[in-house]
Amino acid sequence: MAIIKAPRGTNDVLPSDSYKWRYVESVADKTAASAGYKEIRFPTFEETELFTRGVGDTTDIVQKEMYTFEDKGGRSMTLRPEGTASAVRLSLENGLLGGALPLKLYYKINVFRYDKPQAGRYREFNQIGMELYGAKSPFADAELISLAKLFLNNLGIEGVLLKINSIGCSKCRADYQEALRSYFTAHIDELCDTCKSRLQRNPMRILDCKSPQDILLAKNAPKITDYLCDECKEHYSAVKDALSSVGTEFEEDSGLVRGLDYYTKTVFEFIDKNTSLAVAAGGRYDGLIEELGGKPTPGIGFACGVERLFPLIPNFGTDTVPDIYIASIGPSAAKAAFEIAKKLRENGVFVETDLMERSVKAQMKYADKTGAKYTAVLGDEELEKGEAELRNMKDGSACRVNIRNIGELTAILKNEIHICD
Ligand code: ATP
Ligand code: MG
Repeated sequence: MAIIKAPRGTNDVLPSDSYKWRYVESVADKTAASAGYKEIRFPTFEETELFTRGVGDTTDIVQKEMYTFEDKGGRSMTLRPEGTASAVRLSLENGLLGGALPLKLYYKINVFRYDKPQAGRYREFNQIGMELYGAKSPFADAELISLAKLFLNNLGIEGVLLKINSIGCSKCRADYQEALRSYFTAHIDELCDTCKSRLQRNPMRILDCKSPQDILLAKNAPKITDYLCDECKEHYSAVKDALSSVGTEFEEDSGLVRGLDYYTKTVFEFIDKNTSLAVAAGGRYDGLIEELGGKPTPGIGFACGVERLFPLIPNFGTDTVPDIYIASIGPSAAKAAFEIAKKLRENGVFVETDLMERSVKAQMKYADKTGAKYTAVLGDEELEKGEAELRNMKDGSACRVNIRNIGELTAILKNEIHICD
């Protein structure tokens, strides 16, 4: 019978690679902790309305990419396409915004989008995101952007370009939307069908469209930076000053608008210079918390696409290897190895033994493959004397150890005592 394959656009993490994921996640944990961001976890699916309201119903995500289904109770549910809306929902539902502000949160999640699968674009992928609520200060924007950069630096990633822009507030955006509407109306025949429908409701979305002819048209469109009100202009220049003061290099891109409807003021993307794909992106969303039923509260956040980071990470460290492989000759020795392994494991030692009833030679070959640091071979003689030869697989040195003294063996294998050197 044919095997069933994973759905298109999804990825498996194989046993040989899972340590890489743990590495990236642990760097995220450390980076978040360095600025007081606390981890949250939330459901994989939410009521569909959370995303139509929270992401915006003129966005690509909501219009084309959501995995929406009716549950058995007839409710419309959606697999999360991003984390910001859920993070806000979680904060509102649990009263977190009534507590100490600013509220700093982060998450490591899988997300689902019916995207066109290709390199760096999947239907299930992983995001690490950080969100900051309650702070309107430009230093909040700069802290969050710098934290995203620090995360990339902590992973050893180079060759990414930070692009920033300000897309203003609802006040300055009204005039801008009008200017865009008249510009694109003059070119309506050249727009893709989705953008034709966006022209009336949200012409700014057109600037984020991926269709080649829309990208061309967008190049000569009016620029938001010419329409910013004084407050937004001031905020934008304070963010740039703050970034410069800590040496976070950036490039301004007046065409950058991002894919969510509730962004205000600062938006940014970190672009992989080789592929031109965004590895991380975010912005300020001062209207979102109110849109989702909270009091007007500023917010800012970013999410990074973990799969897109992987090719840029120079060194994931190494996976753990067995502290010891205990080989055995014959059934009594196999039983002794089994028992010693159990006791050592209780002490936190990583032990492997033979479960395949193989010859010593084959066992040692396997031990070598696992990268075990030490090996010991148990046979009748070793059982009788209660001693075995412990071999250091790196330098070939060996010494005799008491196999009944689990405490001593543990200490040797954990490098706490050095009888063998
Ligand atoms: P893009 O413009 O590449 O479609 P986006 O604007 O839809 O990205 P966001 O919603 O900002 O992306 O999501 C944050 C990050 O998630 C992106 O910067 C990117 O690194 C990653 N990402 C987005 N879509 C995908 C995908 N289909 N597969 C893998 N990673 C993705
Ligand atoms: Mg997208």
